[in-house]
Amino acid sequence: MNRDSGSTTAKQSALAQNQPEKMSSNTNPGAATGHVAKPKPLSPFRKRGSLQYSASTVDPRGSRHLLTSQHSLPGIPVALKQTIDLRTSMDGKYKEIAEELFSRSIAESDMLLSAPYEFPEDSPIEQLEERRQRLERQISQDVKLEPDILLRAKQEFMKTDSATDLEYMKEQSQAFMDLYPKEMEREGENEYQRVSISGEEKCGVPFTDLLDAAKCVVKALFIREKYIGLSMQSFCRTTARYLEELSDRPLDMGIYEEIPETSVTADLDQTVHPPVSATHPYENQDPASMPSDVGYGCKMVDGVIHIYTNKDTMEKSTELELPYPDLQEYIADMNVMTALIINGPVKSFCYRRLQYLSSKFQMHILLNEMKELAAQKKVPHRDFYNIRKVDTHIHASSCMNQKHLLRFIKRAMKKYPGEIVHVEKGKGQTLMEVFETMNLTAFDLSVDTLDMHADRNTFHRFDKFNSKYNPIGESILREIFIKTDNHVEGKYFGHIIKEVMADLEESKYQNVELRLSIYGRSRDEWDKLAQWAVKHQVYSNNVRWLVQVPRLFDVYHTKKQLSNFQELLENIFLPLFEVSINPASHPELHLFLQHVVGFDSVDDESKPEHHCFNMDSPLPANWVEEQNPPYSYYLYYMYANMTVLNHLRRQRGFNTLVLRPHCGEAGPIHHLVSGFMLSENISHGLLLRKAPVLQYLYYLAQIGIAMSPLSNNSLFLSYHRNPLPEYLSRGLMVSLSTDDPLQFHFTKEPLMEEYSIAAQVWKLSSCDMCELARNSVLMSGFSHKVKSYWLGPHYIQEGQEGNDIRRTNVPDIRVAYRHETMCEELNLITQAIRTDELETITEEGSLCMGPM
Ligand SMILES: [Zn+2]
Repeated sequence: MNRDSGSTTAKQSALAQNQPEKMSSNTNPGAATGHVAKPKPLSPFRKRGSLQYSASTVDPRGSRHLLTSQHSLPGIPVALKQTIDLRTSMDGKYKEIAEELFSRSIAESDMLLSAPYEFPEDSPIEQLEERRQRLERQISQDVKLEPDILLRAKQEFMKTDSATDLEYMKEQSQAFMDLYPKEMEREGENEYQRVSISGEEKCGVPFTDLLDAAKCVVKALFIREKYIGLSMQSFCRTTARYLEELSDRPLDMGIYEEIPETSVTADLDQTVHPPVSATHPYENQDPASMPSDVGYGCKMVDGVIHIYTNKDTMEKSTELELPYPDLQEYIADMNVMTALIINGPVKSFCYRRLQYLSSKFQMHILLNEMKELAAQKKVPHRDFYNIRKVDTHIHASSCMNQKHLLRFIKRAMKKYPGEIVHVEKGKGQTLMEVFETMNLTAFDLSVDTLDMHADRNTFHRFDKFNSKYNPIGESILREIFIKTDNHVEGKYFGHIIKEVMADLEESKYQNVELRLSIYGRSRDEWDKLAQWAVKHQVYSNNVRWLVQVPRLFDVYHTKKQLSNFQELLENIFLPLFEVSINPASHPELHLFLQHVVGFDSVDDESKPEHHCFNMDSPLPANWVEEQNPPYSYYLYYMYANMTVLNHLRRQRGFNTLVLRPHCGEAGPIHHLVSGFMLSENISHGLLLRKAPVLQYLYYLAQIGIAMSPLSNNSLFLSYHRNPLPEYLSRGLMVSLSTDDPLQFHFTKEPLMEEYSIAAQVWKLSSCDMCELARNSVLMSGFSHKVKSYWLGPHYIQEGQEGNDIRRTNVPDIRVAYRHETMCEELNLITQAIRTDELETITEEGSLCMGPM
């Protein structure tokens, strides 16, 4: 959730422009043979100059990139083997489908019918789900009472025809042994009960449907791989390995190795605490000792910053060869993705696979629960309390609880009554005077008068929630106590954050990734923020920063603070390029940035959007209208600039950044499409529960989802309907986070409170909890080295090889189950495509001499 300004006035005006249109039959399952012409390059409207970098690009790291000078067709990754045919029945229609979906999504709130990305279309998915879960609970109850029902239940679930398939099962398990010989070797005591499916067409749909769906899924994964690789974010290893088999050249695996750091050696096995540096990271502020100036120049071209080797001649000839993202390709890919998520057969396939994954997990628990528990008991010392957890989504301005803020305000009133904290009409006001004008004394203040907790009145009322950010409803108190840029230079806010940090350090195992705001209203915001951090020494080993950019262009534009969107982008990104080119130009920012792990994009997602991002959309410099640009527009330009920045920073040996937006909390479904394509991980992802294709893709790509059920419960979705337990059972990479402890939590340890409620409401086992905690560390932005201490020196390896139960308290059985299950899914999909490929080659070989 985020706010960060009192801007919530929804604009309804443009709603009337887009009347709901009936979808034309877009899926056309009959044409599944795929002999449809490939899409022509889109957009005849505007030629955007060459944003592509040429094939001769010399990458500073010497690694490969997926975008080459040859313009790849929408959705057909250039890295793909020529022989593999990923054409589907929808090719050539992506743009139309995407735009129709968009125009429908605008009118969606008025329609009771299910949206086109949902499944099944005529009956609400949630009712169905609830019924199914009841049934499953019933079955597992029965089984506990009556062991031989177990077999029947198993047969029912897994469609195993006992007698005839017994032999098949034997073969299968033999094949399994061949598939995972290594794991079996080290297995020994880790043997567990595996559920396997046998028979032809074992995925439940005919081969042609499977093939069409597999092609779509693979196409989408390649799209993500391309954007993630290009921006140096991380892509799931296992998935990359399977995609590589379909590709004629190795995927860009270089990014996984990161900049080599001192490895955690085996003899450090016993310790789980990373060594702590003796000096404070903000001590060395001497510009002379900073890395040198490389003398590059930079300026923004069409919304994306370009770098030039010569400051004085910033033109094409001196442009540094970097992979500047290509807008036209992005729009085309986005249309492909949008068409995929509403394709009928694909939707049905993904829905079935997700159901299967849930059922399989139920079976796994049924058969292995005791073994998992025993494995956890066997580990000395380690339990849920002393494993590492990261609060992967929390806003700095609300990271303290109410009682903490209250005590702090009271203390400040005692300690600094005469300090000038605010200037009104040229006249300074002391803290005492501020409270006097409000007719309040320190004694009067209570949590109730503070009134910052979300309550039943905030549900579906983001505007009311936003005003809860003001203590006692007074924005002046918010400015004084929870802002970094105010008359006291954020002194109070710095102090209170340091108190939160001290609590975390005391708890030892809890860590947070706090969001601080950069608005993009002026060029000096970064410097002020960094000076705040350095001056007040706001640093802790338990804390990393993310920078959140509120999507409030329309507000600043109306207030005449910005004249076009490009100014916002320049204010956000130019200082980052300057400091990466010459650290001494912004010394504090250089130090501060080392602890920033990425960008977040925040605001109320349920605000209506009236603009469809396509090639006709104005470029950032021409975006001068009242309207706010849509979510995907914000995300694309943040991504594009971050990508260029990352290449520059990697070249200089500095840390790189990732994109981790709020995404899918509410609003239109295409937010999740943008998130899938461009971001390393997301926060919330609630709407994935309604879009099976996307949910399945998020699973296959193992995209981290930081979920905050308590926050959702106060704002968008009541606790018992939250999809977290379902995502977890299916194996999506979910973690628990608090979002805003100031508004939602009651205790001193909000993250533990979040875990505690989840465990009790959903009856999570200790193993589930530890798995969530492990996920939170994996998806967090802490360094490779720190993670090696927290999770084990081999944590980066796939499957149980990467797990160290002595540190994570997650049984190898669970990790192995997750890994094997995912390999099976990926295998099912890639196998279908390869089988088809073989057939096509034989066919084509007999008809003509190879493909055109
Ligand atoms: Zn949030």
